[in-house]
Amino acid sequence: ANRGRPTYKIASIPADGIGPEVVEAGITVLKCLTKALYTFNLEFEHFNWSSNLYLKTGKYIPDGGLERLKEFDAILFGAVGAPNVPDHISLWGLRLAICQPFQQYANVRPTKIFKGTQSPLRNCNPGDLNWVIVRENSEGEYAGQGGRSHIGQLWEVATEVAIFTRHAVERLIRFAFETARSRPRKLLTVVTKSNAQRNGMVLWDEVAELVAKDFPDVTYDKMLVDAMTVRMTLKPETLDTIVASNLHADILSDLAAALAGSIGIAPTSNLDPTRKNPSMFEPIHGSAFDITGKGIANPVATFWTAAEMLAWLGEEDASNTLMECVEQVCEKGVKTVDLGGNATTIQVTEAVCEEIERRL
Ligand code: ATP
Ligand code: MG
Repeated sequence: ANRGRPTYKIASIPADGIGPEVVEAGITVLKCLTKALYTFNLEFEHFNWSSNLYLKTGKYIPDGGLERLKEFDAILFGAVGAPNVPDHISLWGLRLAICQPFQQYANVRPTKIFKGTQSPLRNCNPGDLNWVIVRENSEGEYAGQGGRSHIGQLWEVATEVAIFTRHAVERLIRFAFETARSRPRKLLTVVTKSNAQRNGMVLWDEVAELVAKDFPDVTYDKMLVDAMTVRMTLKPETLDTIVASNLHADILSDLAAALAGSIGIAPTSNLDPTRKNPSMFEPIHGSAFDITGKGIANPVATFWTAAEMLAWLGEEDASNTLMECVEQVCEKGVKTVDLGGNATTIQVTEAVCEEIERRL
């Protein structure tokens, strides 16, 4: 019965906090979509890699784990972080332990205001804010280089060295130009702090200028990161695709998520654009232990994450259908508490499934 229909193997890693709740919701909606469309299959395998596993075994990823992951077409990730594990241990133990060896060097974070949601910005409507932030995901300020000496002494010194290689900066900026080119406005803003950081950030500016020559159809401009926060807040409609370093884009994308109305909406894709390794898709939010187990986590970020994953797998139509259904449900007012509604995770999930079934 499956002849002619491609099957994609998806590794699911729900991990910590609300991760399992939203990943379950995401898989429910994906299954509903594939059943209704009947054009492709998704096969899920679950991995219990989490802070609980780490506390029991001392490892987030069991021996041979990464090798197993390589067999999959994509990874659907929940969230990592637990109150009883230091954040830098959980982050490096699981998320970065996958991103780095799999060379997922482009972190892509779309943000927009959904119909039916409210931006905290006055006079900002859906359509005024529709961005993609492309974040460098392999080096930079989070390269993990540095150290501490004379620990605990008054004269203790700690260094945190940012690494920028021409190779990594170029491939990322090229990817950002391609992203900008694929969008209607063909507009790219390159963010740096090249007035104060005069080595790595100047390299960024120079590489951007070189790569821009290959994209004459893309309009590009440069912004310093501090001025960029002002522009995002006061003139969101002047922006489209944004590229920045690991640290800068980390901060800007949290701002972007907040300006769009909730951290519970936005997805993030960790892409290996060479497609040698599986890419990893996750909601932008963290494990949110304050609402874990209450059944009120917003699953929309994971639905959008699932849509991004489908698009990366080449299932553009399915991806668009899913997003239209999610927005429709939002506009109808079936929303979780963070968006000003009173629906539960399950109610939003069921509403999206009903919308899919109604359409297809
Ligand atoms: P991490 O340390 O992994 O980033 P966190 O505990 O800091 O996790 P975040 O996920 O970053 O939490 O979210 C910050 C706040 O936003 C949380 O306290 C939570 O209440 C809210 N929040 C996050 N995600 C969601 C969601 N999907 N639905 C509803 N509220 C959310
Ligand atoms: Mg956080």
